[in-house]
Amino acid sequence: MIETQWSDARQGLKKAVGAGNYRSWIEPLELENVEDGVATFAVSTAFVANYVAQNFTDQIKHACRRNGLAVDRLRFDARPDRVPARPQPDAAPAEPAKPRDAAGEDGFKPDSRFTFDRFVVGKSNEIAFAAARRVAEGGQVIFNPLFLHGGVGLGKTHLMHAIAHEYRQRHPDKTVLYISAEQFMWRFITALREKKMIELKQLFRSVDVLMVDDVQFLAGKDSTQEEFFHTFNFLVENGKQIIISADRNPVEIADLEDRIRSRLQCGLVVDLHPTDYELRVGILQSKIEYFHGIYPGVSIVPGVVEFLAHRIVSNVRVLEGALTRLFAMGGLVGRQITIEMAKDCLADIFRASDRKVSIDEIQRKVCEHYNIRLSDMTGTKRLRIYARPRQVAMYLCKDLTNRSYPEIGRRFGGRDHTTVMYAVTKVKELMTTDSAIAEDVELLRRALEA
Ligand code: ADP
Ligand code: MG
Repeated sequence: MIETQWSDARQGLKKAVGAGNYRSWIEPLELENVEDGVATFAVSTAFVANYVAQNFTDQIKHACRRNGLAVDRLRFDARPDRVPARPQPDAAPAEPAKPRDAAGEDGFKPDSRFTFDRFVVGKSNEIAFAAARRVAEGGQVIFNPLFLHGGVGLGKTHLMHAIAHEYRQRHPDKTVLYISAEQFMWRFITALREKKMIELKQLFRSVDVLMVDDVQFLAGKDSTQEEFFHTFNFLVENGKQIIISADRNPVEIADLEDRIRSRLQCGLVVDLHPTDYELRVGILQSKIEYFHGIYPGVSIVPGVVEFLAHRIVSNVRVLEGALTRLFAMGGLVGRQITIEMAKDCLADIFRASDRKVSIDEIQRKVCEHYNIRLSDMTGTKRLRIYARPRQVAMYLCKDLTNRSYPEIGRRFGGRDHTTVMYAVTKVKELMTTDSAIAEDVELLRRALEA
């Protein structure tokens, strides 16, 4: 009996609240019973319950009364384990939201190799390491967000996983969600398409610790940024810890909304610097221990570690790759790992690592190419014949060196970092529309990398 009354009431509500609201909020409601003027509805999440209560209470009461249900008050029971019984015509059946499993649902299990124990600390990463340790303890949130940035392969993801391990161990009842910015975007897009935004919002907002890796990926993705911003604010306001990583400082991420940029900066921003020689030796030694476990028969002659630490300066991932290769080779041919063997087996890695282009070199080459003077590169002339080469040079500096936007700006006559950012965007764009520029850039790049 109450089923038909509720079903009629819902038809009325469809008109009252509009089709979109109806499908998102009213249709999923299940009327359980009406007792003493209280109508109890089962809903999938607390988030839905709050939203409906705040926005549609009057309309629902009204519709119920018009259809003969004596209702004065509404009650919403959040039942996370509940699968909506009714099939939804043009959407896949909504899955029950299970915030506790949030992390698992993403397929995220912290990589068991990425722990604090196995992170080798040196001058270049000690602050990032200390900050990560502090956040992993939990307790009162003191910096929010923790923003880790640094070049590729310097240990950002490793530290985030380590935080997840440690935090989960200390707080097994809390939810930690790690997600890459890219996954974040795909989840968002999928939820929009499948009309599951509410579940997604609920998922992100129900966590105690949210980690988003590689946020530079969000640059230029406006609606994903918007969603990220709201999630971010919600969690910060509720005292939840957020940890973010990117390959550069928030100021340097172009195409990021200003309010997001400033939000990202308002916690603790720490960078992982390129490794120095001692740290590389330390990392190699610790990894070699690990490899000895896998290839017990392979030994490494003295001097190889120092040799590798000298020759491979780019990043830790490459360093690891080199060791993996050497041990695999050693295992295969049943030999010691010697410097000779390393030279032979890692020639391509050395070549890539040797190429160290400086800003000076880039400026000189670009001047030669466009036939302008070096002083025009750093000077203030705005004519296109100077401005364009300058922009190309800035672009190449960003592309071929590890220098940051502000550093590059300084080397171009003390220009602002935003000028450099603009130049980089501009050249990228020109390269797709102007084949002459694209050729110039490619030629210069090859000349510089040779
Ligand atoms: P990022 O996310 O900054 O690009 P990763 O965290 O993926 O870099 O690190 C790349 C690889 O180098 C991983 O295998 C990681 O374990 C290792 N690594 C990076 N820094 C260190 C370190 N300080 N000690 C031990 N291993 C490290
Ligand atoms: Mg990473």
